[in-house]
Amino acid sequence: MTYDSTNIFAKILKGELPCHKVHEDDNALVMMDIFPQSKGHTLIVPKAPSRNLLDADPAAISAVMPLVQRVARAVKAATNADGIRLAQFNEAPAGQTVFHLHFHVIPVYEGVPLGA
Ligand code: 5GP
Repeated sequence: MTYDSTNIFAKILKGELPCHKVHEDDNALVMMDIFPQSKGHTLIVPKAPSRNLLDADPAAISAVMPLVQRVARAVKAATNADGIRLAQFNEAPAGQTVFHLHFHVIPVYEGVPLGA
């Protein structure tokens, strides 16, 4: 499968669509998920154009993973969540719906099912 630059996250990265941005640097944009699975659900979207983890440049992955950790720590502190789920899906059968690499940081609250 190839990268299609008309995907929603590519448009957000280009500023063609709005988002609730919480951070941006040379490597990635961090924004709130529009349909959060829990309070504080945050997405890290690397700027390098890859469809998902399977076709991504290893150097681009290395560049963004420290930010993923920073966001996970910051979201946990800001939400007082009991845990953090890190999720990342590759291709539609695995649950991917937006075909530009991204990482989900999903706060988990004891006794509260995700999606509730
Ligand atoms: P995937 O299943 O591809 O890993 O997840 C895509 C995520 O992007 C979903 O959690 C969905 O709610 C989120 N999403 C879809 N469209 C938009 C959008 O336009 N803006 C934002 N901020 N999130 C989106």
